[in-house]
Amino acid sequence: MLNLDQAALLHRHGDDWRELREVRHASSEDDDLERRLQRGERLFRCTECELEILAVPPGSR
Ligand SMILES: [Zn+2]
Repeated sequence: MLNLDQAALLHRHGDDWRELREVRHASSEDDDLERRLQRGERLFRCTECELEILAVPPGSR
């Protein structure tokens, strides 16, 4: 498991930085994402736009 608990992930919206929030549960139709979360991958999604970041532990791709 990647330890990102101490870090805020931000990305840039023009002059602003917006926080990426962790998504802990996939929507019911997203089986691929659900499998990834069960493997310990972690998804972060921007609160303002559609940007998503997937954090993948070493050796699991
Ligand atoms: Zn964004």
